[in-house]
Amino acid sequence: MTYKRFAEVVLDIPLNKKFHYRIPPSFESQIGIGKRVKVPFRSRTIIGYCVGLTDVSDVETTKDIIQVIDKKPILSLKMLEIAEWLADFYFCGWGEALETFLPFVVRKGLNAKTINVAKLSKDEAFIKDTISTIRRKAPKQAKALEVLSGIDEMAVQELAITSKCKAASIYSLRDRGLISLNKRQVDDSVFTSKHYERTCHLQPTKEQEKAINLIKKRLRERKHNTVLLKGVTGSGKTEVYLQAISEAIALGLKTIVLVPEISLTPQTIERFKSRFDRVAILHSSLSGRQRNNQWWEIRNGNADVVIGARSAVFAPLDNLGLIVIDEEHENTFKQDSSPRYNARDVSLVRAKYENALVVLGSATPSLESYYNAKIGKYDYVTLTSRVGDKPLPPVKLVDMRYEIRRRKRQSNISEYLEFCMKQSLSKKEQVLLFLNRRGFSSFINCRRCGFVSKCKKCDISLTYHKKKDAVICHYCYSETSVPKECPECRSPGIKFFGSGTERIEEEIRVKFPEYELFRMDSDTMKGRDSHEKVLSAFRRGDIDILLGTQMIAKGLDFPNVTLVGVISADTIINLPDFRASERTFQLLSQVAGRTGRGSKGGQVIIQTHNPDHYSITYAASHDYDGFAKKELEYRKQLYYPPYGRLARIVLRGKKSEDVKEKSIDIASKLREAIKLCKDEVEILGPAPTPIARIKDKYRWHIIVKANNFEKLQMALKNIENEGKKSKKVQIIIDVDPYMLL
Ligand code: ADP
Ligand code: ZN
Ligand code: ZN
Repeated sequence: MTYKRFAEVVLDIPLNKKFHYRIPPSFESQIGIGKRVKVPFRSRTIIGYCVGLTDVSDVETTKDIIQVIDKKPILSLKMLEIAEWLADFYFCGWGEALETFLPFVVRKGLNAKTINVAKLSKDEAFIKDTISTIRRKAPKQAKALEVLSGIDEMAVQELAITSKCKAASIYSLRDRGLISLNKRQVDDSVFTSKHYERTCHLQPTKEQEKAINLIKKRLRERKHNTVLLKGVTGSGKTEVYLQAISEAIALGLKTIVLVPEISLTPQTIERFKSRFDRVAILHSSLSGRQRNNQWWEIRNGNADVVIGARSAVFAPLDNLGLIVIDEEHENTFKQDSSPRYNARDVSLVRAKYENALVVLGSATPSLESYYNAKIGKYDYVTLTSRVGDKPLPPVKLVDMRYEIRRRKRQSNISEYLEFCMKQSLSKKEQVLLFLNRRGFSSFINCRRCGFVSKCKKCDISLTYHKKKDAVICHYCYSETSVPKECPECRSPGIKFFGSGTERIEEEIRVKFPEYELFRMDSDTMKGRDSHEKVLSAFRRGDIDILLGTQMIAKGLDFPNVTLVGVISADTIINLPDFRASERTFQLLSQVAGRTGRGSKGGQVIIQTHNPDHYSITYAASHDYDGFAKKELEYRKQLYYPPYGRLARIVLRGKKSEDVKEKSIDIASKLREAIKLCKDEVEILGPAPTPIARIKDKYRWHIIVKANNFEKLQMALKNIENEGKKSKKVQIIIDVDPYMLL
């Protein structure tokens, strides 16, 4: 290879650009693409990544590289390519994108922890003599020698504690040649303390077999492909993944398994670890050192399977053949800080670069994935029944409008739900009560017919603003006065909706004083241990009624739960977000999957003011296809994803006026930029975000809606650098946003 004079270096600054540095001849043999370098930048020395070598520089004077840090490249060529894509696609700095590939602990280079251990270096008889000679003058040293007699070795620290002496005494024993001190690596690997019972493949059901065969066939082709595996809860998707991974290993290929953070439990890990030897884990609850070790295990080729949450999509595997994404519809795959990537979408791109297969699994696939399957872009396989043909539980809807009319007094627990709870509890069975995340309290709802005010243009629930005494659309910011009566049924009982978690808890305590109730939400659950603790208490039967948010909707498998109640299905339906119906459907389906798993069967009760809403009726009849068909029709009419692409620009700052002004400015720049393609791109807003103020910062947003991705990129390019010009207002570009609150 000929000597190249310049290195193209990416720095960790929010600029999507390469800098040229001269390679001093003495570094010629050290420099390489994918290695880290130390370089001067402005008046500092910083670390950058070499992404290319060239003979021409685009600037006249270049500075010299100060040091080449890595002996071997820390980033592979493919990682560099994907990072470049990430920076372009999500409008973040290239350096920032690269750093997603290198966890902080790896960049910092945490080394294995070592400790000093002591060992006798003379024979037994000699030590015995010494002990009796020094006993009087140095009793502590004598004690230390006694402790060491008869054992192999002991950590210096521990020895000092056991023999009640100072470390200095131990060093003097070493100086006298009586003991030797050695460094030992502490084994804090992730799996040391656990023994995993080996499991074999289960005999697949007919449906599983079909899915497994298709995936195996695709794996052998060694081409990029995507399979959508839709399987109801408990249908055995994980067994399909396991057998797919087995085939990948047989073909010499590696696998990444992504699961939502909340599902990354010891039980999940055990299912993989007990089937395969070389499993690595990337998890936020690992210690920094463990994470560093796992990363290097993977980088050095010692793992066939990597399991992790979102960021594991960047795991440094070579020879990647398969990426499995369980619960692919989950919004936790989207990162809500820069780079705002969606791990599902990144894995599709990574798989394309690496000729790998992606398997997307879900009981309720995202409409984007479902649509791609329907138009033939993805392979599509389904598991329609639960293993062992256990039926899905029957779902009953309770019409809360009727409840209110009849009982006069507002109650959060309907008569019917109360009745069923009593029945289950008296049989010593358990009840799960599900409460949607702290609701968005200010939508307008008719108490009598359930009517909810929506924007005609955006089909988004309107939000009540007290100050203005008006309702506002948070996509396009059109404003209307509060209706005096319901436009549907002419009832004057149109009201603002809301209910607090604590109030519901109180109500249940009053109604069921003799039963053990636990409320599980982000307020009562601090730290991940608490989550496990409560669930095992529930499993043991120490808790009769578990009241919880999203947390209890997923993955739990409790045979003694025979009743699942949803306190209100309405809080999400009415969020000002175009995915509100989809979320409602997904959540209700998940919740319903929590029961009917044991021999006692089970049932689900959903309370709602909207018993006719399609997201509820389809969830009640376990009809995903029906729901998806209807929802896709709505999306198509207004070009929401999957038919169009969205980006959201969020502006935030301390002063409300500044934020508003800048938002108007950016929106008009965008409108100017898309003048020639008005039919293909639409700019909505600016408007204050539905949650108008977070952490003392005012927030506005602009929504960019485009027919295709190219047009969306084109529009955003025009304002890409606006954020740098403005000190008072921070500008965030979110491509394919998940939350619009
Ligand atoms: P899902 O991931 O679709 O919710 P799981 O993979 O967790 O479903 O499977 C549900 C249960 O059925 C698990 O206990 C699993 O061990 C069991 N199971 C899966 N496949 C089979 C099979 N082919 N034969 C027997 N049991 C199975
Ligand atoms: Zn009404
Ligand atoms: Zn609107």
